Order: sequence, then C-alpha cells, then structure tokens
Amino acid sequence: MVKVGLEVHGYILMEQSKKKLFCECQVSNEDSVPNTNICPICTAQPGSKPMLPNKEAVDKAVEIGLMLGCKISPILMFQRKHYNYPDLPNGYQKTMSGSYSMPVGIKGSFLGIGIQQVHLEEDPARYDPVTGTVDYNRSGMPLIEIVTDPDFKSAAEVENWLKKLMTTLSYIKAISKEAGVKADVNVNIEGHPRVEIKNVNSFSSIVRAINAEEKRQKKVTEAGEKVSQHTRAWDDANGETQFMRSKEQAMDYMFIPEPDLPFIDIKESYIKQLKSKLPERPDEKIKKYEKLGIEKLDAEVLASDIILAELFEKISKTVDKVLTAKWLRREFVRIANYHNKDLDLVTIPVESLTKLFKLIETKKITEKVGQKIMNELGDAYIKNNKDFDIDKYIRENQLETVSDTGALNTACDEVIAQNENVVNDYKSGNEKSINFLVGQVIRKNRGANAGEILEILKKKLA
Ligand SMILES: [Zn+2]
Repeated sequence: MVKVGLEVHGYILMEQSKKKLFCECQVSNEDSVPNTNICPICTAQPGSKPMLPNKEAVDKAVEIGLMLGCKISPILMFQRKHYNYPDLPNGYQKTMSGSYSMPVGIKGSFLGIGIQQVHLEEDPARYDPVTGTVDYNRSGMPLIEIVTDPDFKSAAEVENWLKKLMTTLSYIKAISKEAGVKADVNVNIEGHPRVEIKNVNSFSSIVRAINAEEKRQKKVTEAGEKVSQHTRAWDDANGETQFMRSKEQAMDYMFIPEPDLPFIDIKESYIKQLKSKLPERPDEKIKKYEKLGIEKLDAEVLASDIILAELFEKISKTVDKVLTAKWLRREFVRIANYHNKDLDLVTIPVESLTKLFKLIETKKITEKVGQKIMNELGDAYIKNNKDFDIDKYIRENQLETVSDTGALNTACDEVIAQNENVVNDYKSGNEKSINFLVGQVIRKNRGANAGEILEILKKKLA
C-alpha cells in the first residue's frame, strides 16, 4: 500500500496591509514589473535589518492553524535557514520551520488527515537561470506551509482533500488563489523508505507525480530491489520523477534562531479573539444543511463558497430553506456567470434577494417572473450600479400572479370577443391558434399562469 504526505505552500493573502512580511514593500503579483516592489530590507543590503513581522501575516497564519484544528504555539520564533543560491540575497531564509522550530500550529487534523505543522516563512526572490536575472518582488512575501502526516492512500484522495483545503481556506481569505499552491510530496510503499518529490506546481501535477512515483517504486520493489531514501524532482513535460539528491547529500541548512527578530508571545486571549471570528468550516456547513433537509449536492454547492453559504444562512431565516438553496444555487450563480463576476462581486443586496424569494415562496409571483426579476437585479446592481425596486417593477409591469379566477375569466371573455378570426380558426381544427389567445390574456394580466389561462379558454371554446 502506498502512503503519501504533503507539504503545501501558498502565498498568504495580504488583503488589508498588502505588504511583505518584514518590510513596507507592496506584495506583488504576476503582472508586477520585476524589481519594482523592493527596498534595502527585502534585497538584503548590507546593514539592513528586518522590521517586526507583519501582524496580518501572523494573524492569518494562526487562523489557518485554528481552521485546521491545530494547537497554537505560545511562542513563535523565526530561524535562519542557510543555503547559497542566487534567489537568496541574505544567504538565509527566515522561516518558522526547521530543526529548532516552533511552528505556528501543530498536531491538527483536517478531514481525517493529520496536520503535523503549520508555519510561516518568507519567500525567496525569483532567479532565472537562463537569463541570469533575479526578480526581488517576491523576496519577503509571506508564505504559509502546511505539513500533513503521511495519511493519504492515493493520488485521488490527495486531490479531493486539497480542493477541500482550498475551499476551507478561502472562507478566511487566507491564501492567494491567483498565485496558486505548490507542494513537496512524499511517497512511499509500506515497508520502504520515503521518497520526496520537490516543488510540484499544480493540483493536476501533484496527482500525476504521485501516480508516476508510485508506479516507479512498484517497479523497483517488484524487481526485488530496495527503494532508497532520496529526493526527486518532477519533470512535468515527461510526466516522470527524476533523481535529485540522496539522503547522504541532504542539505545542511545550519538553522539558528534569527537574532534580528524577537520571539513573539501568543497569548491565550489573542487566540480566543481570533477563534471567535472564524467561520464554520465547509464540511461542518454541509452536515448542518443536510440536517435542514437540503439535498447533498445543493448543500455542497452552497458550502463551496462562503458568499453562497452566508447568503443562504441569512435568507433562510425568513424564507423556505429548500427554496432558498435552489434559487441561490441556480439563479444567483447564473446571474454571476452571466455577468462574468466572482460571487463576492455580485452586489445584489441580501434584502432584495430575500424579498424576491419570499414573493416566490408565497406565490405572489411565478417562478418565471422571479427569473426575470433576477435578470433585472443583475443588470441594475452589477452592470449599472443602480438600486432596483422590486415592488415598483412588479406593479408597473403588472407581474403579480393573478389568482383571481374572476379577473381571468373576464379577460378571457374579452380576448375571445376581440379575436373572432382566431377563435374560428381554433374551432375549425387549428389547435395551435389558441396559444395566440393565451398570449393576449397574459398581455392583460402579466403575472397570470399560462396553464391556467389555457384551461379556461379551452372550456369556454369547447
Ligand atoms: Zn522591501
């Protein structure tokens, strides 16, 4: 049996401060012009010292630890991890991992997989060995590393878990989606030493790398040989792992505590305060929704995005839960897709959605009219950045459901009287012509149900 463990690396989303970990430089993205977000600190000019670690990054790291059920360390400490490479101007990286590490979080568990450690570190710069240039924009960006136990039993399980991890972390806007995640993956067949594959860059590559490495190790063991403990690299183009270095060649990083930074005391009250603001996890929400009678698939879709989940929880306080789930999942998402917006950029107020869903629930308007109003809400709030008055719109366009059969009867009589030719046409056998009459009645009573009108007209013309 194969056992797989992960070290997942992601960029912490610096939503508020938008600054690097130890200096005042702006965090960069893929579009940033190289070497524009730099200063003496993140380029390690002689004599420069780091500033105190960015509080937002520390907060986020603790929040990630808490979301993954970790115990939070009472003291945090950065270490210097020494190695020589052109991407590292100091000759060391400041990290909370390593030999004497006090990671932010330890001993957690997420969806059945043990979490060994969660820690914070700075990103090195980006070195391009082909051109020989270094881009320091990335240098000093805050990274989170999540280390799991070797609890996964297949590549498919890893993929599924990673997706759920990303959804969960998106609830607290912890990791930059745009920058994606990287992982070091360790794979071993039971009874053999583990092999680490470094720097795999996407979910699909992680899956392919695990499958390729499992296959390679099986081949080795089937040939009666031993798998040696070593580190490999992933060759994405050829879909295979390649030898990188042996255990004997393992790097000695000469970790020492960072003398330029103080220890950070993590007080119980601070943890409590962060904890109190954390949302429920998606897996908890799915269970809760299913208990409310929401179908599993709907519950999963609602919980897949915290925007949907929060809307559901607000609206379903006053509107039927199943109806709310259905309308959010289908119609709200449809409008977002139509306007090509992420759900958090759909600015339709929750009050408008609540009102609309209530009108549908109480059958004051038909579902068809409801969809039309969703379109109008999307156009008003997303496209035109304007308010929209649902009541006024229904009134002015006479969209209220006409359940008053008396009024429908009268309207049908009028339409029959006004369209003698069509009536004769229908009576002489052209059944389709009745649809024209239905249309005429709907023009007079826009909220009326077409099926109901058809019934009335058929009876009258029989
Ligand atoms: Zn800087």
